[in-house]
Amino acid sequence: ADFNIIMDEAGIRRALTRIAHEILERNKGIENCVLVGIRTRGIYIARRIAERIQLIENTSIQVVELDITQYRDDKKKEEREMAAISEPFPIQDTKVILCDDVLYTGRTIRAAMDALMDQGRPQMIQLAVLADRGHRELPIRPDYVGKNVPTSRIEEIEVALAEIDGIDEVKIVHH
Ligand code: 5GP
Ligand code: MG
Repeated sequence: ADFNIIMDEAGIRRALTRIAHEILERNKGIENCVLVGIRTRGIYIARRIAERIQLIENTSIQVVELDITQYRDDKKKEEREMAAISEPFPIQDTKVILCDDVLYTGRTIRAAMDALMDQGRPQMIQLAVLADRGHRELPIRPDYVGKNVPTSRIEEIEVALAEIDGIDEVKIVHH
């Protein structure tokens, strides 16, 4: 399989810095905002955005981890378990900013929204992704995008983040 590097370390850094600024601008600060990172790489995306918000605003924003594996809509309802939210937080009237590495069909985000709304009624839910590869199967669009990456269905985006992969790099892999 051959590949192209579409974001290097500096590219990822700039994209996440821009997203942090966009979040602050859109929400006029971060009052009542919580970043919710989706299992594995979305968690690091959320933490990095939080670090930048801390630097820019000198205010800390809570980061919560969400594992939605049990919530995918290809699971039977009775097989679904409680959403694994890392720590309880007052969802009521909170602005939730979901963070993930790649947005594809939208099914993971739908599941994340289901899981969150089972816990309460957020004031608003927004979505930040490092890469949007298209091919949506649901009416979901991101509010903050690192990079739009038009892909074919047989291509795949490979996201490497230093925290777990030892390097920051986003590649498009052609199979
Ligand atoms: P969706 O549910 O929107 O179809 O897929 C999004 C979820 O699957 C995200 O949590 C993302 O991590 C993962 N995903 C989907 N497509 C890709 C891809 O091409 N590359 C990577 N790295 N993850 C993907
Ligand atoms: Mg994922």
